[in-house]
Amino acid sequence: MPELAYLNGKIMPIEEARVPIEDRGYQFADAVYEYFASYKGRLFAVKEHLDRLEKSLRALSFPPISREVLRDAVLGTFQKAGIERAGVYLQISRGVAPRNHAFPKEAKPQIVLTVRHVPDTPKEYLEKGIAAITVTDIRWGRCDIKTVQLLPNVLAKQQALAAGVQDAIFVSPEGIVREGTSSNLFIYSNGRLKTHPLTHHILPGITRAVLIDICRKINLDVEELFFDKAALLAAEEVFLTGTVTEVLSVRQIDNQTISAGKPGLIAAKLRSELESRAGAHLK
Ligand code: PMP
Repeated sequence: MPELAYLNGKIMPIEEARVPIEDRGYQFADAVYEYFASYKGRLFAVKEHLDRLEKSLRALSFPPISREVLRDAVLGTFQKAGIERAGVYLQISRGVAPRNHAFPKEAKPQIVLTVRHVPDTPKEYLEKGIAAITVTDIRWGRCDIKTVQLLPNVLAKQQALAAGVQDAIFVSPEGIVREGTSSNLFIYSNGRLKTHPLTHHILPGITRAVLIDICRKINLDVEELFFDKAALLAAEEVFLTGTVTEVLSVRQIDNQTISAGKPGLIAAKLRSELESRAGAHLK
């Protein structure tokens, strides 16, 4: 099945899609994005992703873009690609204009999108969990807006790989545990789950919201509150959540063992509940 791109209304092979060098996403990171995933040929949580995209667009004072245009771009390209387990990356920049910090008067938002296969999470990570490091969160004050300015996330991920582990966890200069480089984070201690509240310092993850809803349905206590690195390291379970990450146990942080060094039961239970909600078990 072909991996495809969508560029301002036209669908084409990815290699053929080109954006001009004066695109403001390219020059200023003046762009927002979303990432959708499908299971068994059905995209999960499309409405929730489009709602968040509209919030990001509004937060950056982009001109309104009709939801039909966005939904048709996502669904139309996804259907044409016909990939069962696809990742749909959608990016909207403020447009193409001569370089100038001020918003351009004339520019029209550029809508680009790719549909690609999602690689399977390595079996070893699912069976054993991953190892991570903590890094100081040097990101800006509006991490709740899903913009493409991901350099701190890129550098943190690379720092993790250079340290021989799989991911990094952002911790604020004051010691508050925020989230992963491309995921939210939960801990399980004393019979309750805890995750960072929705503030400007983390992305409001769709998976995070779905999991909180699942927890309420299965009577698992979840608290949205701040916790520090000591609580993280002392937790019975730590896991990351995200559209492709789903629920991924962390068995080691900064060389310290978590969860007796293997994935915990709560993470396993939530992963399976999430997958059944997403239709991953359907034939
Ligand atoms: N936090 C960050 C920084 C992310 O990049 C992501 C992935 N988009 C998430 C959290 C998880 O969000 P979602 O569950 O919507 O994929």
